[in-house]
Amino acid sequence: MNKSELQQHDREHLLHPFTDFNDLGKQGTRVITGAEGAYITDIDGHKMLDGMSGLWCCNLGYSRKEISDAIYEQLNTLPFYNSFFQCTTVPSIELADALAEVTPEGLNNVFFTGSGSEANDTNLRIIRRYWDLKGQPEKRVVISRKNAYHGSTIGGASLGGMSGMHKQFQSLDYIEHIQQPYWFGEGGDQSPEEFGVQAARALDEKIQQLGPEKVAAFIAEPIQGAGGVIIPPETYWPEVKKVLDQYDILLVMDEVIFGFGRTGEWFGADYYGMKPDLMTFAKAVTNGYFPLGGTMVSDRVAEVIKAKGGEFTHGYTYSAHPAACMAGLATINILRNEKIIENVRDKTAPYLAKRWAELGDHPIVGEARSLGLVGALELVKDKGSRARFDEDCTAGAVCRDMSIKHGLVMRATGDTMIIAPPLILTTAQVDELVDKAHRALDDTAKAMA
Ligand SMILES: *Cc1c(COP(=O)(O)O)cnc(C)c1O
Repeated sequence: MNKSELQQHDREHLLHPFTDFNDLGKQGTRVITGAEGAYITDIDGHKMLDGMSGLWCCNLGYSRKEISDAIYEQLNTLPFYNSFFQCTTVPSIELADALAEVTPEGLNNVFFTGSGSEANDTNLRIIRRYWDLKGQPEKRVVISRKNAYHGSTIGGASLGGMSGMHKQFQSLDYIEHIQQPYWFGEGGDQSPEEFGVQAARALDEKIQQLGPEKVAAFIAEPIQGAGGVIIPPETYWPEVKKVLDQYDILLVMDEVIFGFGRTGEWFGADYYGMKPDLMTFAKAVTNGYFPLGGTMVSDRVAEVIKAKGGEFTHGYTYSAHPAACMAGLATINILRNEKIIENVRDKTAPYLAKRWAELGDHPIVGEARSLGLVGALELVKDKGSRARFDEDCTAGAVCRDMSIKHGLVMRATGDTMIIAPPLILTTAQVDELVDKAHRALDDTAKAMA
């Protein structure tokens, strides 16, 4: 099939995730046909620096034969076996071991799933099981945050705080949402430090309002990813820690994006010095080469679930899929052997921070922020008042299209442009990324004038 035939068949038969079908029908999909290193190529041969690592997952880029070989060899040895009913496989044991080693202290057990959404559903099941076994079944409410993303199953979407999603399904009734720590969007006249404390105190207020004896857990991404790379003010996590220390409430950190090196540390919890009781992972664990997710379970929680006995009636057919586990092992080996995360921390992230901050001088950029290898640009019509161009956030969509034209994949979340490039990026590729983003901004300014 040629390009237009592919697009037509795509329209006729494929329902895409998070897509306006009407728009798609008009424009046609971009057909991606190849990838190498940090670049992807479409069917017209247009090569683009992938500033989003696929969908935050291909952290090592697209050319790691070690991972595809590991999958292939496993598929030829034992392509599938489950881990239900007292069975196990060698890859699943080896990956569980490796995960216990690389994740923060105290997280020594893993429950495997096929995705991040499933892993957050698993968290809901574990949280309930834990408090029931502890004899505190009244602890039921899970607190999350507005504009959080925790996946798209009913559990994941209920935990998530995106209003556009909530309009389209019925949320679980035991999940509550508090304010997000989004200083640029909601901080008003407060300093980032003041605002960070205030946003963390919102957790305390919610706990008091519900009654601590009713609250089971608090879930949060270390930095909101899909919500717009919202890096909380430095005061936020220390204050949340203070709040949580006062109450007997589980902390779930959703590390689906920030796990495996994105911040320059192995996990966001390491970066912020937090000690989660449960920790969700997916995406980069296999470098995007095979679907795999899971939740790391702390000794505190695992001991209760293991010791009290009785069947935990939960699991997925593909929990601990052997080929997925081999992909995970190969990925972790590369991260370790090539000191990829250390290189991000010591070299690429500081360089990106410097170059990305320069974009903050652009006339339509209200804020340029970055941490590790993520970044965001807030597009504004007026820097002083932070006023946007229009209510429909057309600037973001324009900038994304201009960026693609210049050979850079950036994503638009409303009028916030976001990047999360592969961790293997060289400093020369950081320059390339920033230069292309700059050109996209120039074109956007012209188009919006
Ligand atoms: C992508 C994502 C999920 C969902 O993962 P899926 O594999 O798409 O189900 C959950 N949480 C966060 C923070 C994510 O970014």
